[in-house]
Amino acid sequence: MKNREVRLKSYPDGLPSRECFEIVDADLPALQPGQMLVRNIWMSVDPYMRGRMTPNRQSYVPPFELGKVLDGGSIGQVMESHGGPFAAGDMITGMLGGWRQYNVTNGLGMTKIDMSLTVPLAAYLGVLGMPGMTAWYGFQRIGKPKQGETVFVSAAAGAVGSLVCQIAKLKGCRIVGSAGSPRKCNWLKNTLGIDAAIDYLEAGDGLLNALKEAAPKGVDIYFENVGGLHLEAALDAMNPNGRIIACGMISQYNNPDPVGVRNLFNIIGKRILMQGFIVSDSFAEIPAFIAEMGAWVAAGKIKWEDTVYEGLEKSPDAFIGLFSGENLGKALVRIGPDKV
Ligand code: NDP
Repeated sequence: MKNREVRLKSYPDGLPSRECFEIVDADLPALQPGQMLVRNIWMSVDPYMRGRMTPNRQSYVPPFELGKVLDGGSIGQVMESHGGPFAAGDMITGMLGGWRQYNVTNGLGMTKIDMSLTVPLAAYLGVLGMPGMTAWYGFQRIGKPKQGETVFVSAAAGAVGSLVCQIAKLKGCRIVGSAGSPRKCNWLKNTLGIDAAIDYLEAGDGLLNALKEAAPKGVDIYFENVGGLHLEAALDAMNPNGRIIACGMISQYNNPDPVGVRNLFNIIGKRILMQGFIVSDSFAEIPAFIAEMGAWVAAGKIKWEDTVYEGLEKSPDAFIGLFSGENLGKALVRIGPDKV
């Protein structure tokens, strides 16, 4: 039996291109005792994967190896189990099974999906998956929001950002989001109901002015997804005792010459707390996250959007699209049907 998989052919220099990937029909290995054969249904593309495409860089995850299948978040159904931890028919999800049609696994790092919740399966890679946990944990644990505070969210129409906006709303905050198109800004205002949206591409060098106008009382919490000019604007607009949740800096990931932040001194005079975090350090809190986020979802208090690429062959495009802003909400690849 053959297994279609996506391998890294070359490390990108700057923005990744399709030529960095190759799609190969490899032999599927025979199942060993304790292993399961999983039919993949959904896979996730995430910005952190770009960091894994840079060799010889110190990081919290090792780089991808050239000529080897990539890995990442996935949802699949167990087809066959040779004494593995899950049974045939179970839907399972984890962080390593993606970029391939079938996954042979011993189940390490995978969890069984609770099919009693009436959400689409793909939600376990978005609102109830890693991006949801990132938004939920980062905003609440580091941001420590108080009612009435002003929150600024960059990449606000993306997977993490769009959920941060809505959690902030549930906590009684005033929300300013930035995104890179009128369509995304309209969605943020009209569908998610945030208070002000800034099209940062239109604002250009005027981002700080646009932020000051959108947040006349200053910014108390900045949820940082972008870095560079966004971070500078936030530092200038922050109020005393503000918190910066350093989640990601996507504007720098393809930049061989990262942009320095020129006004970091604001941290001192304004007594700003800036803290980075890696969501996987806090996976012990997943049950608390599922309980609270699941309840919000069940009550219709959280909305989300998926941008779906059809077929494993489209996964490089889905990944590259993260950096050109193709996705509204969560970027996903459908590898196979939910049911066979
Ligand atoms: P998104 O769904 O937000 O997709 C990425 C978005 O980033 C794009 O849609 C685009 O939106 C925006 N973007 C891309 N390039 C630039 C640029 N040069 N300048 C400004 N905006 C840009 O991705 P996620 O929600 O999955 O991730 C959001 C951030 O959170 C990333 O920085 C990621 O690395 C980080 N992250 C961190 C985690 C952690 O544990 N610390 C875990 C998960 C994510 P637009 O059209 O608006 O430009």
